[in-house]
Amino acid sequence: MKYQVSNFKVSPKDYKNLKSLIQNKFHLHEFSYKILQKSIDARKKEKVVLLYKLLIETNEKITSPDVTIYKDNNIQMEYPIWKYKDRPVIIGFGPSGMFASLYLARCKANPIIIERGSKIEDRKKRVEDFLKNKVLSNNSNVQFGEGGAGTFSDGKLTTNLKDPYINFILNEFYIHGAKEDILYDAKPHIGTDYLEQIVKNIRLEIESLGGEFYFDTTFYKLEEENDSVIVYAKGEKEFQFKTSHVLLGIGHSAKDTIRYLYNEIGLNMEQKQFSMGVRIEHKREKIDYAQYGEFSKYLPSAYYKLAAHNSDGRGVYTFCMCPGGYVLASQSDNNTIVVNGMSNNDRLGENSNSAILVDVKPSDYDKGNVLDGIDYQEKYEKLAYEISKDYKAPANLVSEFLAGKVANSLRSINTTYPHGIIFTDFNKCLPDFVVSNIKFGIKEFDKKLHGFNDPDAILIGIESRSSSPVRIIRDLNRKSSNPYIYPMGEGAGYAGGITSAALDGLKTAMEILRENSHEWFRI
Ligand code: FAD
Repeated sequence: MKYQVSNFKVSPKDYKNLKSLIQNKFHLHEFSYKILQKSIDARKKEKVVLLYKLLIETNEKITSPDVTIYKDNNIQMEYPIWKYKDRPVIIGFGPSGMFASLYLARCKANPIIIERGSKIEDRKKRVEDFLKNKVLSNNSNVQFGEGGAGTFSDGKLTTNLKDPYINFILNEFYIHGAKEDILYDAKPHIGTDYLEQIVKNIRLEIESLGGEFYFDTTFYKLEEENDSVIVYAKGEKEFQFKTSHVLLGIGHSAKDTIRYLYNEIGLNMEQKQFSMGVRIEHKREKIDYAQYGEFSKYLPSAYYKLAAHNSDGRGVYTFCMCPGGYVLASQSDNNTIVVNGMSNNDRLGENSNSAILVDVKPSDYDKGNVLDGIDYQEKYEKLAYEISKDYKAPANLVSEFLAGKVANSLRSINTTYPHGIIFTDFNKCLPDFVVSNIKFGIKEFDKKLHGFNDPDAILIGIESRSSSPVRIIRDLNRKSSNPYIYPMGEGAGYAGGITSAALDGLKTAMEILRENSHEWFRI
């Protein structure tokens, strides 16, 4: 018999004894178990507990209010055969492009994948060259290249979405190399050290099924021809692909491509709220203690997610928190500054960091053009660069920032930012309302997470690429105003993170297949 046990509480000190705790609680002799979900309940710092949902298989009887008969609710994937005349073309191999391509490849569509950046092996070298030597490649960087924007990241897989296909996505990450805990952890994360191999493994499966990759090759033009389009792309060589299905997963940093699609192809787009702010670095141990108290030594590095609403109607919130992580230089354009964060799987770096972001609304930047948000974002990224003219990131310490002053040296915390920092007044490189709301946010967050306003904590800016300032409008069948183009993922404005972008790519591919398939098969 298979039982599902909810709410199984274990002290963090005892997590290694899970099997004997189950045995004793239910008086079992012979059984096997699997963790379905694991979370940390830290609401009471003096009594932090691990909460498990378990699947127990045994011939013995278990009775308890928290036990039910187990039902497998996992989705059964269907892979209909691709019957359209032309092969689909996927532009961009970030999470949306990866999952669309993987699905299409399994449906025997032999997808063609165009990616402006390099294969992960070469991309990694270029990213390292930028982080060490400040030599920025505009096509292979932290935003662009195999795996997309999230490859050099913490690899958090959390999303606010509730969708049965999320388990499929987590399972694919696991099959392709992630650790098993992502399947049950309430806040799953992969870590950049694992992501590199996973991305490569997904590519290898797609290739083995007939998919074809064009790396270091940028899509730059599209022409309609009869009942299809010609996709033009170039790298060292020039390519043209005829197709009736272009899946556009270009991310939010492909400003050249978005401008082309709006100005030359006339795709319908709309302005969209996005966010700007800074990153904050604390000592990891202090955050761990603030979250878990004395239990912190038994638990993984602590995560937090904080939000507040100001009386001016704006939200301020922490974003993309990287426990034990590093602040990263993540621009794709020369002479700009953009920061973000990443962590390894163990999350054991000295510091924990997170973005503090403030809503930027269309009314803040609208001058009459749909793409005004992109120009606005770019303006502040350039202003941030102008402060050092050397990729040093604008920074301040929390105490000075809150007092309206500029610090002159670091104190008890060292920064992990690779290019060094330059102390400055953030009003020089962020809109006033962003700066004032960050101040408000820091004070509010400290009420929820004691020590958030640590005077020595370092603020590093600017973080401007957390989401897209435009949305490419699509219909219920996921078609844009050009019926051959299917916008998907974060750049199109339909996702905000690795899992939601992957889900959007998967569902776009499924929708295209749904339109023409009768014959379904399982693999
Ligand atoms: P992207 O991942 O941006 O991929 C788009 C791809 O398209 C790129 O590879 C690009 O090179 C390619 N491309 C663009 N234009 C063209 C063109 N003209 N021709 C050919 N190719 C083109 N999210 C999380 O959920 N968890 C995290 O921990 C996390 N950490 C992050 C850390 C960093 C440093 C960054 C930068 C982002 C992080 N994110 C995180 C956000 C996450 O990476 C994105 O939400 C996600 O990658 C979006 O997926 P996507 O497929 O829509 O686009």
